Amino acid sequence: MAAVIRQAFVGVGANLGDRWAAIRTALESLRKTAAIAALEPSAIYETAPVGVTDQPVFLNLVIGVETTLTPEELLEALLARERAAGRNREKETRWGPRTLDLDLLLFENETRQEPRLTLPHPRLWDRAFVLAPLKELLERSARFQHPAWQELRTRLAKTAIPPDGLQLWTPPKE
Ligand code: AMP
Repeated sequence: MAAVIRQAFVGVGANLGDRWAAIRTALESLRKTAAIAALEPSAIYETAPVGVTDQPVFLNLVIGVETTLTPEELLEALLARERAAGRNREKETRWGPRTLDLDLLLFENETRQEPRLTLPHPRLWDRAFVLAPLKELLERSARFQHPAWQELRTRLAKTAIPPDGLQLWTPPKE
């Protein structure tokens, strides 16, 4: 029997070193994963840091993922890419700088309440740097038709997303 393909959204952020190289490498590596059927990125934003404000500006985007992985397996795949980007969580401060941050935001209507995996992501609705790219991707792409995403579109349309500190960013030509 063919495995069921499901959809999820992942928040991506980086603010240390070559931010775009770290993001691009992670996206390429995820694309090569057999259990990931498709990966669609939002526009990219350069964003002012939130929380610890004395640190470099971030690049942020959201990716829509089609996968046969479970939420737990997808999280593992994301954490492996963070590790590959040289992230060492023991040395980090909360809200501090990071080479690569991959957050599992939503996985259709799945919910989890574990420290290891909380779904939907607990800070999703507080973060303009997540909501702006998520809204842009959902408005532009016809790929996301699950009922969960229709509800999400409705909620996003009613949500004020403060534009301060968010600027569209264009990747360098390769
Ligand atoms: P952070 O420093 O914000 O990237 O925290 C990542 C840690 O939060 C990891 O140890 C994850 O296991 C855990 N975690 C819980 N829920 C999620 C989620 N929805 N997406 C990513 N990490 C999560």
